[in-house]
Amino acid sequence: MLTDLSLAEALDGLDRRTFSAVELTRAHLDAVEQLNPRLNAFITVTADRALDQARAADDARAGGTAGPLAGAPVAIKDLFCTEGVRTTAASRILANFVPPYESTVTAQLRRDGAVCLGKTNLDEFAMGSSNMTSAFGPVLNPWTRRDDPSALLVPGGSSGGSAAAVAARLALGATGTDTGGSIRQPAAFCGITGLKPTYGRCSRWGVVAFASSLDQAGPMARTVEDCARLLGSMAGYDPKDSTSVDRAVPDYRAACRRSPKGLRIGIPAEYRLPGMSAEIEAIWQQGIAWLRDAGCTIVDVSLPHTKYGLATYYIVAPAECSSNLARYDGIRFGERVEADALDQLYERSRAAGFGTEVKRRILIGTYVLSAGYYDAYYLRAQKVRSLILRDFTDAFAHVDALLTPTAPSAAFAQGEKMTDPVTMYLNDVFTVPASMAGIPGISVPAGLDRDGLPLGLQLLGRPFDEEGLFALGTALEQAAAFSYRPSIRAGAAS
Ligand code: GLN
Repeated sequence: MLTDLSLAEALDGLDRRTFSAVELTRAHLDAVEQLNPRLNAFITVTADRALDQARAADDARAGGTAGPLAGAPVAIKDLFCTEGVRTTAASRILANFVPPYESTVTAQLRRDGAVCLGKTNLDEFAMGSSNMTSAFGPVLNPWTRRDDPSALLVPGGSSGGSAAAVAARLALGATGTDTGGSIRQPAAFCGITGLKPTYGRCSRWGVVAFASSLDQAGPMARTVEDCARLLGSMAGYDPKDSTSVDRAVPDYRAACRRSPKGLRIGIPAEYRLPGMSAEIEAIWQQGIAWLRDAGCTIVDVSLPHTKYGLATYYIVAPAECSSNLARYDGIRFGERVEADALDQLYERSRAAGFGTEVKRRILIGTYVLSAGYYDAYYLRAQKVRSLILRDFTDAFAHVDALLTPTAPSAAFAQGEKMTDPVTMYLNDVFTVPASMAGIPGISVPAGLDRDGLPLGLQLLGRPFDEEGLFALGTALEQAAAFSYRPSIRAGAAS
């Protein structure tokens, strides 16, 4: 089955002319057509464009000018602007927005020959951990509970459509964005690999902004090496993003073949939460054993400010979001609800255009930035953010990487954690600190829980040491030998 290949295997098959890019793309488009009505992983499918791009990739291969991803069908989170293709951020306010330009990350994927199948669903403006806040409806996790297969589970969020599409074999890989865990947590929930690069590694230009000091684009795929290949195309300096860092893009594929022997791995005590499920603890211990067997030295470390991570993230991220989303005023951008007076037009357009979670974030953000509260909340949160970074910097003086669980639970049911927003926010407890510190993290599928649902392990690295994460991620991947597949997937009897 062409859809069961990894990205690396598919590129190999294309090189050997075992199949064409058009055949490979058709197989994926057929899978999308068959399963997207159930999964709702894509908001927009660009079948004709994809086939044109596939034909061009076949021609490039025949002419000897094929780029490193030529003919590989991938999915793009609908937060990346794509020229001439509707980009919604899963919000009603951008439901009909067709950008006149292409994001740098997607332009680089296209430059290297990737075929874009379409735009994937997400939490509205990437705010969420369940994909339940999309104006285009929830995404279904293709995994089901062993003893209760009819329960509808979330794919995680906010990059839930990308994660579900890759897990269900609708795409060989996908782009995600991660502001507080949105690549790593859905990767864990869907049994795939996802990497959040160092802040500044991938350009944010053309990515709809949520919280600009935290947002990072990154790859999601079914293997560590596939993520390395995608990141190789996505990363790089971009003068159009003032926070993009001018550093050469290393050979990430080669990093996957590096031995992790001799690396020192820190186990942060603060990630052992009171009341944490025994299965999460068990998979963590398993990961520790695997890395020890791979020749790593395991070291206990302390990151004392971890406990403030969530509270400060949920000040900083809404603050930045309230400022970024001010542009959706019904005048220059997005849907408009007409009114007699200008302020009424703003109010009505924004009231109709934004969903509940986005409004909540804008309200929180506006509050913490307002005169009188700024010092007590926003400024204090920024100071604590520096302490969170210092914890990591201190730890990395002694260890090369950290190992933690990716999320405190496996995928939960649609509708769960919806009544009290704080219970949803708690799901980000292990992913948010690295976002606050700007350091890279990868989630690798490590095993199944007793319900048969995937669990992920997270590795965190020094700034710009994505290579170290690829080396260690490969070691975990080999030890875990995670070959389980979700019950809803291309080619499976439904
Ligand atoms: N779940 C987090 C939030 O809701 C992170 C989202 C993200 O990384 N985009 O803010």
